[in-house]
Amino acid sequence: MPAAVYLGGGDMAVREVPVPVPGPGEALVEVSHCGICGTDLHLVLEQYARPNTVLGHEWSGTLAALGDGVRDDGVDGWELGARVVADATPGCGECRACLRGRPSVCLRREPTDFLAFTGAFTQYKVVAASRLLRIPDGLSMRHAALTEPTAIAIHTVHLAGVTPDDRVLVTGAGPVGLLTTAVLHAQGVHDITVSEPAPRRRERALAVGAKAVCTPDELLPAKMGQPVEQPFTVAFECSGHASAAEQALDQLDYAGTLVFVGTGNKMPKINHNRAIIFELTIIGAYNYDAEGFAPALELLASGALPLDELVEADDVGLPGVLDAMHRLAAGDLAGKVMVTPAAS
Ligand SMILES: [Zn+2]
Ligand SMILES: [Zn+2]
Repeated sequence: MPAAVYLGGGDMAVREVPVPVPGPGEALVEVSHCGICGTDLHLVLEQYARPNTVLGHEWSGTLAALGDGVRDDGVDGWELGARVVADATPGCGECRACLRGRPSVCLRREPTDFLAFTGAFTQYKVVAASRLLRIPDGLSMRHAALTEPTAIAIHTVHLAGVTPDDRVLVTGAGPVGLLTTAVLHAQGVHDITVSEPAPRRRERALAVGAKAVCTPDELLPAKMGQPVEQPFTVAFECSGHASAAEQALDQLDYAGTLVFVGTGNKMPKINHNRAIIFELTIIGAYNYDAEGFAPALELLASGALPLDELVEADDVGLPGVLDAMHRLAAGDLAGKVMVTPAAS
């Protein structure tokens, strides 16, 4: 089968790879759509990925084969052709993180190995049948590929403890910032300002639920020990840029919360004095809520999200993945780019 393979040196190409065979308790999924994630961008463009790996983890697909021991009666079990996504493995249920309702950072989980990864920028993928979830009727395969990043956005908003009376700043209106904005809006949080340098992305932020947009230079620095004129209670840093994180911290009111969502390779300088005097909370959000992907599927199927604004209009085949990554990194595209392996 064809796969978009990372070759090393920031380059990718379509190569033939063997179709995987599902083992006991596993299922073979034919990938329908797979979104390009910011993590994929870092792994390829910043050359962290191991040569010969296939990336892509935001997929939807249909069941193409079932391994031994997977019930195939279509009632309690599965049937070929079923439309599915698969969520993360649950935590152990017993460690400190699990007991605090944070199984996605279960202490007994193997540390994430970003390098040994078998992804979905290809035609078929094997997954544990126990982790399969059915895509609700009425939700397209294309939009169902937003399940994983939507689960992250729900988790991010949940961890931050945002309420409708919060005044929220989102820095960065790429796919992550847009999805975070849309989830906030769907949850009744309407006072959202999005800071973003690219005009096309600012426009899209307004379309997905931002009340206001600005460029980063419009956010004026705070005077020492004082809040800015119109401070925010919560800031979601979705750009991965150190300067945006520094700026977001400056814009927070007393007892404000900064949430790190976007990763980046340049570390921000955190003004600890400000964090102390303002009693700020600084948190990171990475994985999913204890409920896994189910709430994301429900939200996507509910019609409450502007799905067409969140996904770029043009899907790309496997040969177009690298070019789309460059365009995303340049801020040239705003929404999630969907890869369609079958169309390649
Ligand atoms: Zn992702
Ligand atoms: Zn655990």
